[in-house]
Amino acid sequence: MNWKPVILALIFMLFTTACVGKEKAEGNEKKVDSHIQTYVKESRYPNMEIETEIGEYDEYKYAIHFPRTKQDEINTKIKSFIDQQKQDFFNQAKKIKPKNNDFSELLLDYDITHLSDTLVSIVFTNNQNIAKKESKETKYTLNFDLNSGKQIISNDTEILSNTTTNENKSSVLAPAGKYVAITFDDGPHDKLTPYILDVLKKHKAKATFYVLGNRVEYYPEIVKRAFDEGHEIGNHSWSHPKLTNLTPQELRKQIYQTSSAVAKITGTAPATIRPPYGAFNDNVKQILNRPIVNWSVDTLDWKHKNKEMVKKIVRQNTRNGSIILMHDIHTSTAQALDSILTELSSKGYQFVTVSQLLEIEDNANSVAGKVFMNKPTS
Ligand code: ZN
Repeated sequence: MNWKPVILALIFMLFTTACVGKEKAEGNEKKVDSHIQTYVKESRYPNMEIETEIGEYDEYKYAIHFPRTKQDEINTKIKSFIDQQKQDFFNQAKKIKPKNNDFSELLLDYDITHLSDTLVSIVFTNNQNIAKKESKETKYTLNFDLNSGKQIISNDTEILSNTTTNENKSSVLAPAGKYVAITFDDGPHDKLTPYILDVLKKHKAKATFYVLGNRVEYYPEIVKRAFDEGHEIGNHSWSHPKLTNLTPQELRKQIYQTSSAVAKITGTAPATIRPPYGAFNDNVKQILNRPIVNWSVDTLDWKHKNKEMVKKIVRQNTRNGSIILMHDIHTSTAQALDSILTELSSKGYQFVTVSQLLEIEDNANSVAGKVFMNKPTS
């Protein structure tokens, strides 16, 4: 027998199978890419992304936001500026043991005050509270030539504020049954939130996204999609400060600016608020005058970044009426979602938004000023 044609045929088969496999993978990627690009087109800051880093430790907590450009040289300079600010704060905060939840806090936020084809001006605002003893705000302006990546020295600052109205939506659900509200904080994220939305759609599950106003500005199309697909958009402040450290004016700005950004996209201001770090007091409650929603199941996903751990915590702690805390800015969380939904629905759970859950439980029912809190925060 002549083996030559057989071997040639085998090689040919292997080759074509490999090609088809590769094409399939590339095809999927392309689909995802073009999907994401349509979001970027709508952004107030084309060619820029926003990075958010949030950390919670016993001694201190921090929220840091910074932009990412298409220029590696600029990104490296911004990163080293951020690292320096962070390090300075850690050094101070670690010296002091917090009492009565008065942990030290760093909020490092920014504004893009000028953006053209050639120049970007970024004003960083560093707000630090060292164990309630010392509070200070410092502003830093960083200017870059977008073509060369070189830093330019100059000054300018100014921020805008806005107000908005509150509106509630109603829907009727049977009181019998087992319900959970899954919540995602700190997004939207350009890639992970659309992925999570796909998974939720597959399971016909509704969730609540507690978004940060400064990220909403970057990814309005993602917020629009989440809202259009029946999910709730909640308010998680503009830049993730500890609300109890703010003046009434700053507090209103954090909440109203975010509400306004969401309302501009969805036509509806968020009905519920989740305070950063779960921290609030009577003063905050009174000023916000809207339901404050914390959680009963904390997946600690931001800390361990382990999908098996996320699943385990949810499996062991979820009950009827649970509000589950996750973050849509971690890959491990997005990866855990599919099997969490499969498992919980096999146990008879239905996935509703926070406002729907509150209605079912007749707990706060979105009455202005009423507070819903599943668990006191430590
Ligand atoms: Zn958060």
